[in-house]
Formats: sequence, C-alpha cells, structure tokens
Amino acid sequence: MIIEIDRGLADEETLTTVYEILGGAGITPDEVEEIIGERRIILGVKVNLAGLALDDNRIAGVHGVMAVDRISPKYKLASLQWGERTNGGHSKVIIPSPQGEIIIGGDGLVVISGPCSCEDYESMTRIGGLVNAAGAHLMRAGAYKPRTSPYDFQGLRAEARPIIERIMQETGFGFVCEATGIEAAEDLALYASMIQIGARNAQNYDLLKKVAELTANPDDPKHSLPVLLKHSMSPTLDVFLNSAEYILAGGNPNVVLCVRGAQTIEKGDVLRNTAMLEYIPLLKQASHLPVCYDPSHVGRRDLVFDLSLAAVEMGADALIVESHYDPERAKSDGGQTIYAGPLEGRNVSPKQRLDVLIPEVMATYHRRREWEERLHNL
Ligand code: PEP
Ligand code: MN
Repeated sequence: MIIEIDRGLADEETLTTVYEILGGAGITPDEVEEIIGERRIILGVKVNLAGLALDDNRIAGVHGVMAVDRISPKYKLASLQWGERTNGGHSKVIIPSPQGEIIIGGDGLVVISGPCSCEDYESMTRIGGLVNAAGAHLMRAGAYKPRTSPYDFQGLRAEARPIIERIMQETGFGFVCEATGIEAAEDLALYASMIQIGARNAQNYDLLKKVAELTANPDDPKHSLPVLLKHSMSPTLDVFLNSAEYILAGGNPNVVLCVRGAQTIEKGDVLRNTAMLEYIPLLKQASHLPVCYDPSHVGRRDLVFDLSLAAVEMGADALIVESHYDPERAKSDGGQTIYAGPLEGRNVSPKQRLDVLIPEVMATYHRRREWEERLHNL
C-alpha cells in the first residue's frame, strides 16, 4: 500500500493518526518505508495486506492524506497466489451427485442445464430425460426465484424439494438451486448438490456468511457443499472476489465463480445484460477458483449457442444453460431458454437445442486444450 501525504496540508497529527490506524491492523512502523520529499511524504507499507482488517477509507479520510493505493487486493483466500501456495495453481471443485462426483476445474468441461425454475413433476421429468440424453452433467432449477415483479412466479419454494429429490433419484443428476435468502439456504442445504448465489444477492454479506456456515464441512473442508457464486448486476472484479472471500473465509473452499453478464446501456430493449466474456480470463488471472459461464441471462435464446462456444474458448470450466422441453411454456425466463431437445411439430433451429450445443462445446473444449498445450510447449 502506498499512502501519499501533502506536507502543506498535514499537521502534527497526520502521521500519528495514520500510524495508529496501521497499528490497529497489526502493522508496525518498521514495516513502513517513509520517503520525505519537499512537498510530499510517501509511506510504503511493505507487508501483504490480504486478510488484514485495514480500512483504506479511514486512512484516506485523515487530514493531509492525498491518496491511498492498495497494490495487493484485500481478498486472500480467493487469490491465485493462495491457490499457487496451497495446491499448485487453479483449484478443482467437487460436486456430489447421485451418479457420482462431478469435478469443475478438472480435465473436462461441465455442463449444467435445466429450467430457470422448478416446475411440476411432469415437466421436470420430461426436461430431465432430455437434458440427460443431451449429455449434461448436472441439472439446474430454481426452487426459490428472485423475481423483479411480485406478480410473477416466485418458485415452488419448499414444495420443490420432493420433486427435485425424485428427479435426482430417477436421473442420477445432482441439482444446482439458488438460495434467495437465509430460509431458502437452510432448506436447500438439506438436498441441493450445489447452492447458487444469484446476482441480486452477490453482495448480501449476511447471506454469504450464513451460506458459508451452512455448507462448510469443518472435518473435511474439501467435501463442503459447493457454492456457485454469481457476480452482481454491475460488478467490479474486486467486489466479486471479495464476495467469494466471504464463503472461503467461512470455511468452505468449494466456490465456483459464475459470470452472467452485466447491466449496461443495452439493458432492456436489446439485451438483459451484456456478455462480459473477458471476465473469464481476467478471473483466471486473479483467482484460483474455477469459472462457470451463464450464456442465458444475457437474455436471448438466439445468442446462447455462440456465447457458449466463445466462453469455452476463453477458458470457462463449466456452463450453466437454461433449457426446457418447450421454452415458451416455461414458468420463468422462457425467452432466453433453449430447447432441451427437438420439439415435435415445431421447426426448432438446431442452434437453439441443448442436444446440438453440448457436443459442440465439448469439441471446442478439446480444441482449446490442444492449443493451450501447443502454446505451453512453445
Ligand atoms: C437464474 O439463474 O435463474 C437467475 C435468477 O440468475 P441471475 O442471478 O444471474 O439473474
Ligand atoms: Mn433464470
């Protein structure tokens, strides 16, 4: 951290107060390099600040302080450096499922698919059959739905559990379900294979702490219930990784980061969100956690195929794609949901079918592994 002080503005208290704040975070004066110039005093804090309770804004607010620049990020457990120190680089996350463990960040691409929200048993079993035949590895379905309008379908909530448990048994699929609040998290922790934190809750820190508490396995942290963490509607990389830090610091190392697009000036008429594909390699540079991409919440069924291929090309370890046997009849997000398979009596575009998409993203994934290998050996 570099702290810049204006000598013209500073008084006797300035340095004392700054050192007091640093001392409160456990930083001693001999860990600070002081350069006294004609007009400025520069303090260079030499210790790694990750994980220290140091409030930059308190220092910035001290009379005479001109700028505070944190060179290393505040998050520690989510950083790539942490991954390098503890497991040699990027991490794998294990998802338990009735048909066995699914690994995100391992040697294969993982595709998670299913409807936006959990519907009745008949629809779910039909979708489950198609998603299975298409070659997906896990299913998604929201039991609790965070909807913009209170008049829209809010999810089956607690009533989703027997339906999802039955589909899990019949298909062998593990399920990813979103926790919209503490009550939802408590319910989902009893049966879901992975808990999703959605964009609207990405900065709900009390929920993040509660989810960490509910999912962490203190006896065997690697087998904590995994969390799929999305970023907020208008994110920064730093804020996103600090949200992940809440779960990691709460004792659960099994976090998968999920990029889902951000609200921009396009919000509304053309797109719900813009793609944010560049976040995939950026997150890989900054963090050891695996990265999933959600091509659906950009908001257009006709873009899901191209976005999925691009995301895999850019380094995604997993995709989460909304699909339904008949998206126009889906209870939520039908306009962005692709067909889980061909639909009799309808001329469905192949690019909008999950059973066409999955072999293509798999082939893309293998091509990516090949060129990564070639580049690695150059
Ligand atoms: C969802 O996955 O259906 C969902 C609500 O996602 P997001 O939080 O990205 O809007
Ligand atoms: Mn949705």
